[in-house]
Amino acid sequence: MVTELSISDIVRQQCAYFSTDKTKEINFRLEKLKTIRQAVAENKQAILQALQADLHKPELEAVTAEIIFVLKEIDQAIKHLKNWSKPKKAAVPLYLFPASARIQPEPLGVVLIIGAWNYPFQLVILPLVGAIAAGNCTIIKPSEIATHTSGLLAEIIAKYFEPAYIAVLEGGAETTQKLLVEKFDHIFFTGSPDVGKIVMAAAAKHLTSVTLELGGKNPCIVDTEIHLEHTARRIIWGKFFNAGQTCVAPDYLLVAQKIKEKLLVNLEKCLKEFYGDYPETSPDYARIITQKHFDRLSNFLKQGKIIIGGEANQTELYIAPTLLDDVSLEDPVMQSEIFGPILPIIEYTDIADAIALINSQPKPLALYLFSQNKNLQQRVLQETSSGGVCLNDTILQFNVSSLPFGGVGNSGVGSYHGKASFDTFSHYKSVLHNPFWLDIKLRYAPYKGKLPWLSQLLKL
Ligand code: NAD
Repeated sequence: MVTELSISDIVRQQCAYFSTDKTKEINFRLEKLKTIRQAVAENKQAILQALQADLHKPELEAVTAEIIFVLKEIDQAIKHLKNWSKPKKAAVPLYLFPASARIQPEPLGVVLIIGAWNYPFQLVILPLVGAIAAGNCTIIKPSEIATHTSGLLAEIIAKYFEPAYIAVLEGGAETTQKLLVEKFDHIFFTGSPDVGKIVMAAAAKHLTSVTLELGGKNPCIVDTEIHLEHTARRIIWGKFFNAGQTCVAPDYLLVAQKIKEKLLVNLEKCLKEFYGDYPETSPDYARIITQKHFDRLSNFLKQGKIIIGGEANQTELYIAPTLLDDVSLEDPVMQSEIFGPILPIIEYTDIADAIALINSQPKPLALYLFSQNKNLQQRVLQETSSGGVCLNDTILQFNVSSLPFGGVGNSGVGSYHGKASFDTFSHYKSVLHNPFWLDIKLRYAPYKGKLPWLSQLLKL
């Protein structure tokens, strides 16, 4: 059992395993991708139960966001692995004739994946797919806050993989800090910017590379040129999926003053349509992960003016889907990532002010713009910076494997999903090969008289 060994022992075992070169074989990687696929498929019900126990996660949300997407990414990796791992030819300048060049991906070695609690299964298994595909050994540290999913992950991984290849280590900040003392070949972290800084500082001691998938306040601009009903529905869906505990959820709305009243009517209508008059009784609405997070969010309910929602039930860890008006930028709800079912609405009269507000904040993970106006779309893309952008919808960009997913600045470093996951866990080694059959002496000493010729040649 993994837990009987010390952290250093497990890292040592994985280093030894990696040095056998077994994980570099493509057939080995394919076999392990099939094993992880089988592990997810065979344990689907247990995973759904754990997510229900941790977050009261509705089955549809759990199946789509944590199971199907993972299976699709595994299938994609299986399908493309041979192509992804092939060395790619690179151009060589004519003056180096007859040399040839290629770029050859190689695994990084032993990698550490640290997860967050909001999609506790998917957020560690998706990067694991990239780590396996690229040929690494992996230690996973799931979030201790999603207790049931963490326990299940440890059980499943131990059943399907040997710990010298893939191991799960459960625990909180203390365990992570012990892990961070070890030297890894890459650290993939999902979580808050504050802990991201701790991870990056620890990695720097070993010059270990990092991927940091962080969070932040994602703005959602709503212009006047929209389909009102579809806009309202897409905002409510993306915001209240998993009770707002989604890193790419719209954090706050920036609404054109001219359309605000109409939008509010539609948002309210939509909320009722989705969750009924009593969302607490809806089977389609998740719960807040812990008491601590519940308390933090409850405080936000004391700010601004509640348009709809605002109810909270501590024993149930329930917070109603809430729309907040009249919030000031100085209110705590606008000073940190909300990460819960509360949506502040701020109006603007000039889009330049909305853009200036976004640019006065740290770069977000996602930015949303609802507008059919192509010039406005172009302007917002041009004048703002964010990990990703989704036009006229919310959170869907996460599910598109061909779009590398990650932040910029405060919202993260690096990206993954699809081929980007393979790239993240690979080193692209540049290889130049010069055959022996030709050896022009122009570059060798003695240099006398050679410079004019060499200068001519280098221009080729
Ligand atoms: P967190 O930063 O509190 O915890 C993440 C991980 O770090 C956990 O495994 C935890 O055990 C560990 N940890 C916590 N404190 C630590 C410390 N002091 N030292 C070392 N390790 C520590 O984040 P969270 O609360 O689990 O998740 C919420 C945050 O994650 C939000 O900011 C959210 O936006 C972000 N997030 C980002 C993504 C993404 O893909 N970009 C996805 C999900 C969540």
